Amino acid sequence: MNIQDFIRDIPDFPKPGILFKDITPLLANHKALISCADQLANFCPEHTKIDKVIGIESRGFIIGGMIAERLDAGFVPVRKKGKLPYDVKSKSYGLEYGEDTLEIHTDAIAPGEHVLIHDDVLATGGTAKAVCDLVQELGGVVVQCNFIMKLDFLNGKDKLSVPVSALLNY
Ligand code: AMP
Repeated sequence: MNIQDFIRDIPDFPKPGILFKDITPLLANHKALISCADQLANFCPEHTKIDKVIGIESRGFIIGGMIAERLDAGFVPVRKKGKLPYDVKSKSYGLEYGEDTLEIHTDAIAPGEHVLIHDDVLATGGTAKAVCDLVQELGGVVVQCNFIMKLDFLNGKDKLSVPVSALLNY
């Protein structure tokens, strides 16, 4: 099964010049969805126990939850500012224009826990870097950042000082 066949390119969304990688065809196909989650879970280094899988709002929640189930790990959502109900730790990071803020519950990761971070796309790496920082500030150990796809021409991997895996590389 070729996962690439289920990624739809949308030019100029959400703004001119962006080629948006739409994963909804992948989510809508049962076999492709299962295969994607299986492959991403298998990226995890053997013999490394993962305690928590983080999914980044919002597309990272879907397959992140499936990876957590496969790794016998808990699932932790990282959300945009103001969405989480309990005490949070926040991290602001630069976007192409302006900045954004991500939040995690302060009790979501215990010190020393092994964490896998998942999102659909690695672009410039600012989002994933902010989540790595949040995990490390809570005392967690980031074992891997894993993505359905990474956009290599944006060099997002260079921002991350942890192992990075992706099913598809553009
Ligand atoms: P970045 O912080 O630049 O690595 O951007 C990553 C975040 O933006 C992820 O949550 C992605 O879902 C989203 N994103 C960035 N670029 C794209 C793209 N071309 N297609 C779909 N999602 C994208």
